[in-house]
Amino acid sequence: MNYKDLADLIFPDAKDISYYEEKYPERNLPEGAVVSRFAPSPTGFVHIGGLYQALVAKEMTKKTGGVFFLRVEDTDQKREVENGVTGIVNSLKDFDILPDEGMVTETEEKGNYGPYKQSLRKEIYQSYAKYMLEQGKAYPCFCTTEELEETRKKQESAKVRTGYYGVWAKCRNLSVEEAAEKIKNGENYIIRFKSPGREDRKIKHHDLIKGNVDFPENDQDIVIIKADGLPTYHFAHAVDDHLMRTTLVIRSDEWLSSVPLHLQLFHELGFKAPKYAHISPIMKNDNGNKRKLSKRKDPEAAVSYYKEEGIPVDAVKEYLLNIANSTFENWRRANPDKSLDEFDFQLNKMSVSGALFDMVKLLDIGKTVISRMTAEEVYENSFKWAQEYDKELEKVLEDKDYALKVFGIERGNKKPRKDISKWSDVMYNIEYMYDALFSNKDMEYPYQVINDKEEINKILKLYIDKYYNEKDDKQAWFDRIKELAGELGYAKEVKEYKANPDAYKAHVGDVSTVLRVALTGRTNTPDMYEIMQVLGKEVVTKRLERAMR
Ligand code: GLU
Repeated sequence: MNYKDLADLIFPDAKDISYYEEKYPERNLPEGAVVSRFAPSPTGFVHIGGLYQALVAKEMTKKTGGVFFLRVEDTDQKREVENGVTGIVNSLKDFDILPDEGMVTETEEKGNYGPYKQSLRKEIYQSYAKYMLEQGKAYPCFCTTEELEETRKKQESAKVRTGYYGVWAKCRNLSVEEAAEKIKNGENYIIRFKSPGREDRKIKHHDLIKGNVDFPENDQDIVIIKADGLPTYHFAHAVDDHLMRTTLVIRSDEWLSSVPLHLQLFHELGFKAPKYAHISPIMKNDNGNKRKLSKRKDPEAAVSYYKEEGIPVDAVKEYLLNIANSTFENWRRANPDKSLDEFDFQLNKMSVSGALFDMVKLLDIGKTVISRMTAEEVYENSFKWAQEYDKELEKVLEDKDYALKVFGIERGNKKPRKDISKWSDVMYNIEYMYDALFSNKDMEYPYQVINDKEEINKILKLYIDKYYNEKDDKQAWFDRIKELAGELGYAKEVKEYKANPDAYKAHVGDVSTVLRVALTGRTNTPDMYEIMQVLGKEVVTKRLERAMR
């Protein structure tokens, strides 16, 4: 009996690997084209760090004319949830990080290198496991959980590394006859890799993000096929990324320490290893301590959070590029109006330690992104968001013509309004433009410098009686406010006031604030002239009168 006989006994029906090698040929792509992928487990949760990896992979394939695919890693069937693939597919779609190949719905896929769902690739893994068995590079292991536990205890008390290696690898030295005998007797087993490595030798690895790293060789006889017939991550990674002809593996740096094992697997399988780029996790400043964004503690760790909050997709992407590439900020400063697609992403500009997540910065980017949109775009986006998450806002936005006027205030000019950072801000920022909402509210007027009720009423009354003319253009409108200020003893120009503060009660800006607060209930709004134009005479007068009460 030889290795081949044992392999036949274990996997009698497995196809020869030449079948798969021919079925999935080298890709016909231009020199330098990167083939990369996003390979999440369908646990129903997409972490912002995962989206970040997918974005980096997409950028790298896009800029080189390569292929980006989505592979679903569902070999740990305990962790799966219903519709987990759909969640991933939709998240990528929401952020316009579209795979060229791979899963497109829960069950459908596109591309010639599939199946793209690992649980459907069982036969493929078994063929390669058989190939390893035939060459004596893998072996069946019959150790029970109890035996493994006992070994671990012995290792701990002997103060040596734990694991299945060297002298501790009991089943490694079983003869093929002994192994066959056990199998025929119905003993349970799994398949292990027979590592040729030695811990006292070093390997050098060049990581495209982390740079040069040295590791001891792997000497662990890791499991490649589990009791349920499915592969472990390590084995599936080697087989899949070989057959799918991945050239660059972009993944989380939790896998960096597995590189020695992975390179060894590629080598023993006779595959050319891909390049690796290990991404550091996104960190959070938690009261001065830097820690990973946690699925459990931080709502912003979930990609769904951004959609629910209505943070614009482009803002999230722009922010992620910002933390991904140190050159992005300068590029954006030099090219404020260019589309993100034009940014030349550089893998070697990625931070080696984890980038710090900053919500304030993200929302600030959100403001800029929204300020660049047309009123129509702002309308479409907020309406779409409202339909899903805010029925009240949806109702408010039903009158599209009026909403376009509201969103059009101070927009499309050189310094557009910057008050909306996310779609969930819209209601707050437009509420006062809707009289039905405004007049139902119990008002508190946050007056500032001028806050004496009598004085305020005097200003408002004089404005309505003498100075308000809704037909004025902007210049005339403001000139009249100045006149009003002058009439009541306020400086018509801030300059004049500053030069001689004792000569005046306050200045025209303070008078404007009174009008603004009375009109909107806010100290900060976009252009008041435009607001009055959109509200119209009747509403303006009514509001100023109400404020006098
Ligand atoms: N399923 C693995 C994970 O989610 C994939 C890692 C990889 O990209 O190879 O961590």
